[in-house]
Amino acid sequence: MPELPEVETIVRSLRPCILGRKISNIKVFLPKIIRWPGNETHAHEEPSAEHHEGLAAEYEELIGKTLINIYRLGKNIILQFSQGQYARIHLKMTGQLLVNLPGDPLKKHTHVIFSLDRGKSPDGGKSLYGGQSLDRGQSLDGGKSPDGEKLELRYRDIRQFGYIQIMTEQELAALIEGNSIGPDPLKISFPCFLARLRSKKGKLKAVLLDQAFLAGLGNIYVDETLYQAGIHPESSPLRLSDEKILSLHQKMQSILLSAIQHKGSSIRDYVESSGEQGHYQDLHQVYGRAGHPCLRCGTGIEKIRVAGRGTYICPRCQRVKRCEV
Ligand SMILES: [Zn+2]
Repeated sequence: MPELPEVETIVRSLRPCILGRKISNIKVFLPKIIRWPGNETHAHEEPSAEHHEGLAAEYEELIGKTLINIYRLGKNIILQFSQGQYARIHLKMTGQLLVNLPGDPLKKHTHVIFSLDRGKSPDGGKSLYGGQSLDRGQSLDGGKSPDGEKLELRYRDIRQFGYIQIMTEQELAALIEGNSIGPDPLKISFPCFLARLRSKKGKLKAVLLDQAFLAGLGNIYVDETLYQAGIHPESSPLRLSDEKILSLHQKMQSILLSAIQHKGSSIRDYVESSGEQGHYQDLHQVYGRAGHPCLRCGTGIEKIRVAGRGTYICPRCQRVKRCEV
């Protein structure tokens, strides 16, 4: 599943291509991928007749709207359109967002296509937006639209667990205020991280994976962080020293930043929007290395199960501090 660095990489690669363009059409080949608040079709369910009817009304809301911002919220990709419309995209296991020309062959498992207009600047907007980072809350005025070829933003998903949720500004605010999306691991300060962690019971790995605690970490980056901080994933947050938690905070942020620089880890299906793979998997120190020697002490890396997830540790560098609960 794409985690923070992969989602951030996708957002950064999409931004210069599609920001400022208008949605001219939407094609939905698999209705259950599109959701909206109050109509949560689950991955295994077939959508009802009401879903089909509601769907047309929901996505028609987006046609003619200009894409004014793209940002990451935890592991979600948020597309912000003019007039207070949003699409929240969660890629789950195998979702991909790809930018194509309209004539490009349609890959199998493409479920939704957003057709985008040409925009207004001759280089597709690269000179205006290339490499520029817009934070949440910032947006571009639709009048500065880039220009170029017509494009398509295609959503592809082999296992179909991902979704695109169409929502208003109020509905997005309610989602954030509902505490299901915690603070960002790259933005949380050490004092805040320490205070939040000290209030948690249970195994440290389970706490770090909880998106309401911090939004963006997943199995790979939690294992890498715990290894580099020298902390066992079953440790209790209540029993860690302040120094260990400081190390955890520092390693978490430095690993995520490095992974973003390397465009994420390509394991299974993750690619950025042009279809390129990331390279951080070559720098993993512990994840996926069972049986190989620890890079620090030479002990064999072990794969154990923590919080229901396959977990890689060095049994010597990450001493067990079991939870009391
Ligand atoms: Zn070791």
